[in-house]
Amino acid sequence: MTSARIHERHLFGPGPSNAYPEATLALAAPLLGHLDPAFLAIMDGTCEMLRRVWGTENARTLPISATGSAGMEAAFVNTVHPGDVVVVAVNGLFGQRMCDVAARCGAEVVAVEHEWGQPVDVERVLGAHAAPAIIAAVHAETSTGVRSDIAALGAAKGDALLLVDAVTSIGGIELRADDWGVDIGYAGTQKCLGVAPGLAPFTINDRAFDRRVERPRSWYLDLGLLGGYVGEASGSGGRTYHHTAPVAMVASLHAGLARILDEGLEAVWARHEAAGRQLQEGLEELGLELFAAEGHRLPELTTVKVPDGVDSAAVRRYLLETHDVEIGAGAGAYAGSVWRIGLMGHNARPDAVLLVLAALRDALAHA
Ligand code: PLP
Repeated sequence: MTSARIHERHLFGPGPSNAYPEATLALAAPLLGHLDPAFLAIMDGTCEMLRRVWGTENARTLPISATGSAGMEAAFVNTVHPGDVVVVAVNGLFGQRMCDVAARCGAEVVAVEHEWGQPVDVERVLGAHAAPAIIAAVHAETSTGVRSDIAALGAAKGDALLLVDAVTSIGGIELRADDWGVDIGYAGTQKCLGVAPGLAPFTINDRAFDRRVERPRSWYLDLGLLGGYVGEASGSGGRTYHHTAPVAMVASLHAGLARILDEGLEAVWARHEAAGRQLQEGLEELGLELFAAEGHRLPELTTVKVPDGVDSAAVRRYLLETHDVEIGAGAGAYAGSVWRIGLMGHNARPDAVLLVLAALRDALAHA
């Protein structure tokens, strides 16, 4: 019999970050029943803290029990009526995924394509159709490391609903759903929130909820049913059973959110900003070239060009095997020519930046 090795990785990829210690510890706590009043209090507290990180007063703010992609699916399946025009700003992989999901929900998709590495061109997106039902965009494109201006889209969206992917922005960079005119937003737990993957923080305002599909094709993601499950519709306490909540994950998210709000949301954003700047300067000092357009770079996810003649996969393997450091490959057409380095949540710290820079310097010397 062999024993499984417990890996202690430093996760600097675009996927899960190293979770905040509080969030990891919460996973080891004794389980509560999903209808235990103590758990319901944790769920209520989680929804309340999610409102704060989203920057929203929306009553319908909840962790959907599935990953960020399910949040995307919930956003579209509840709001796209057959034949609706949905304008999607596509500047990377996740904008592309939005098009696929919206089309499966019966939308007439108008994809506004951008060169990868560039931010969303707000004028082009707004001019793509005279009267779309929905305008959709990714705030922080994880495939390219680019931030787009959601506030500018919201300010000029007209009668359209604004649907935003905040998977890689929430808890890392400024996000103000209500002030920016975001009607529907979804996120993930594994990035800057510093929790394991598995939940999709979700928010929808009354304007979007009132236009929703009455009987969406998905039962599990039907927001009409999920509302009762989290008790948002229940000033009177009436909750309906919808599914068995992933109690450990919700407790972990609760702990991660509490950690962020204890530190202070703006302080957390500033910590990400500082770490990202330190990393990007350090990479340039190593002679590497950054991929994302200057002025639009995310601090929490840096894309860097693999130098000519360097085997991208061999460097990543060396980092993992020699230093237990994971960085990501590029996405799509850039799989072999770009690296993606995440500094999310617990990893957005100066010592983590020094570690990944030193490891990369060593790996390049061996390349
Ligand atoms: N949107 C963005 C911007 C992402 O980065 C990701 C995952 O990396 C997703 C959506 C999908 O989330 P998940 O992998 O949790 O389903």
